[in-house]
Amino acid sequence: MADVDVILIGAGMAGLTCGCLLAQKGLKVLMIERNQKVGGCCTSFEKEGFSFDLSVQSLGECQEGGRVWRLLKELNLLDQMRFIPLEPAREYHFPDQKVTQSSRLETHVENLSSLFPKEREGIVEVYAVLKKIFEEFSTFPSSFNWFKPSSFSSQYPFLSRYKDKTYGELLGESVSHPFLKTLLSIRSSYALLPPEEISVVGMAGIEMSYFNYGVSCVEGNVEQLPLKLGEALHKRGGQILAGHEVERILMEKKRAIGVRLKNGQEITGEVVISNIDAHCTFSNLIGESQIPSGFRSKLKGMKPSLSYFILYLGIEGGLDELSVSNNEVFFEKDLQKEYRSLNESRIPEKAPFYLLAPSKVNSSHAPEGKSTLCLSIKAPFHFSPDWDQRVKDELSQDLISKASAFIPNLEKRIVVKVETTPKTIERWTLNRWGAAYGWAQIPRQSGIYRLQRTTPIPNLYLTGHWTSPGGGIAGVVASGELTAEAVWSRFTKGEQ
Ligand SMILES: Cc1cc2nc3c(=O)[nH]c(=O)nc-3n(C[C@H](O)[C@H](O)[C@H](O)COP(=O)(O)OP(=O)(O)OC[C@H]3O[C@@H](n4cnc5c(N)ncnc54)[C@H](O)[C@@H]3O)c2cc1C
Repeated sequence: MADVDVILIGAGMAGLTCGCLLAQKGLKVLMIERNQKVGGCCTSFEKEGFSFDLSVQSLGECQEGGRVWRLLKELNLLDQMRFIPLEPAREYHFPDQKVTQSSRLETHVENLSSLFPKEREGIVEVYAVLKKIFEEFSTFPSSFNWFKPSSFSSQYPFLSRYKDKTYGELLGESVSHPFLKTLLSIRSSYALLPPEEISVVGMAGIEMSYFNYGVSCVEGNVEQLPLKLGEALHKRGGQILAGHEVERILMEKKRAIGVRLKNGQEITGEVVISNIDAHCTFSNLIGESQIPSGFRSKLKGMKPSLSYFILYLGIEGGLDELSVSNNEVFFEKDLQKEYRSLNESRIPEKAPFYLLAPSKVNSSHAPEGKSTLCLSIKAPFHFSPDWDQRVKDELSQDLISKASAFIPNLEKRIVVKVETTPKTIERWTLNRWGAAYGWAQIPRQSGIYRLQRTTPIPNLYLTGHWTSPGGGIAGVVASGELTAEAVWSRFTKGEQ
């Protein structure tokens, strides 16, 4: 007899979702989290009266009917969480023009069509394809054993047609104006990839998870979301062992049978689910010699997503200078240029940056008469060997001087300053190189090619942004639900 039915390694949003759903079914769930609090990337912190969300600034699928909303409903948590709709979702500032992004698809298509009237048909076509792909992908069963190459193209025509294509290729088929292509692909930066590299399937997830149920942020701090799920798990009889790191997945006859913690304690489980960096799961917790060679080489060739450098500021005064809370500032219209540098572990001088003003929508983030700002850029982990204070100061200074074009006297108004680097994110989550979204959503790592929830190791499952469908809160909630479904099938029908 194992100690518990299910051991979950890591309490990110995916692990929490999965754990709650399995505990709800009556399984005995034990979740092990190395940090003192749950949430992983989805966490918040305070400094001198200001509060900041470490990562997540805008969420998809939280409004009525959306996936996150449905999860909260199922767990009876709807009355405990409030979401603030962001409409417009964002403003994009180019040197000669400002473009507003609506969180409603019809309005967004109208806005773009009025800027490019001759290209209306192409714009509609692009979103029709993304919508179809998202719908088809959402009907995939939780386990992948069903996959039949012979019937795939008739059952999933759009996925089949676009599974190997980049979003840049889709745009090339449908629209022609270069600036329209830029505007249509601007949100590929949410996956930290340019349109020429992101898969159509990955882009469909990003765009549709926002357009289907609007864009929101959590009222209060984003960490309320994982904290409430943690409470829900307890209520359903689940346990969270916080402040403990798993150092080994125990194996017997090539099957996962439990875990060993850093303090030496061993716990057995019928099933082990890993919510952590997939590379770490297989290479560190299991060991390469125990993994089938084909799977090992697949893992070796996989590429993580990039990370961020983020500067959180608490400042004096309000922020009437900004008309919305979420802004993105571009110095040129060619999105590919930045990534050429990032791929060489450099941050270009003209890197676009995010200028977020969370306290504009969440006044509780700052004391009376003060505001919060969050300035960030995409950053490769290897930009700096140690991310020392000198590097942080240089990047911070550059961001402050660029943001001063929008917020006069910014430097003088700063009262609190905190930097987060890819190294900080790695240290907090153990996601390799501070990868913000698991594996990069390039075609060979997206859709049907992404790591599946079932693994070559019997009794070992994956959940979270290193597996399917991918990163972002809506994505990992989906992953948590699907892994729970696959594991539940294993308990009820003996399916792997
Ligand atoms: C800077 C940044 C900005 C982002 N912005 C957004 C946004 O605006 N909107 C959005 O939707 N998404 C955003 N994301 C992405 C989103 O936060 C992630 O995709 C998602 O939270 C990942 O959840 P997860 O469950 O897969 O795992 P994670 O959050 O990575 O959690 C994994 C957990 O496992 C724990 N762990 C690791 N190793 C061990 C071990 N050996 N033993 C025990 N515990 C372990 C970690 O401590 C962590 O708590 C952002 C991410 C980052 C980093």
